Amino acid sequence: MAITLPKLPFEKNALAPHISEKTIEFHHGKHHNAYVEKTNALIKGTDLEGQDLEAIIKKSSGDASKAALFNNAAQVWNHSFYWQCMRPGGGGKPSGAVAGLIDKAFGSYDKFIEQFKDAGVTQFGSGWAWLVIDEAGKLAVNSTANQDSPISVGQIPILGLDVWEHAYYLKYQNRRPEYIENWWNVVDWDSVNELYQSTR
Ligand code: MN
Repeated sequence: MAITLPKLPFEKNALAPHISEKTIEFHHGKHHNAYVEKTNALIKGTDLEGQDLEAIIKKSSGDASKAALFNNAAQVWNHSFYWQCMRPGGGGKPSGAVAGLIDKAFGSYDKFIEQFKDAGVTQFGSGWAWLVIDEAGKLAVNSTANQDSPISVGQIPILGLDVWEHAYYLKYQNRRPEYIENWWNVVDWDSVNELYQSTR
């Protein structure tokens, strides 16, 4: 069983104007797909061929001889997660259990947004910003470099933002803060709530 590129949960143009059709076309069709193809090429003929993505990530994590495989497999996972965090007509304030947990952890929704934006904007170079359930079971914001994911450190991500340049350059060029600002219009809080509930 090869690793496959998941279908987008929305049409390529459905997040415009916040995330442009061209951006999605390249991000999903070229970048995400390239991570899938490289992962498959690297597991071919090895004992990891036929294993699922989570197992491949776990077994290549921290193994210097499998660094290229880990980098690509982790990026496959991160991107599949990222698409699930967005939907057309999303945005607004969170609802459900997560709304209350955000107030509890950060003081208010606005303070959470400020902290999350800051994590994304200040992540040096390529990486990700996350809302996670931390080791103590509380919501927390953090960022990771390159392909790294909170999963590696025992945290459960429930919202993830790709801040690699390829995620925004076609529309926003170097203006990462503007991309992050606009991204809130497509955040799928229902999905965040579902992810949270699935961990209970
Ligand atoms: Mn990306």
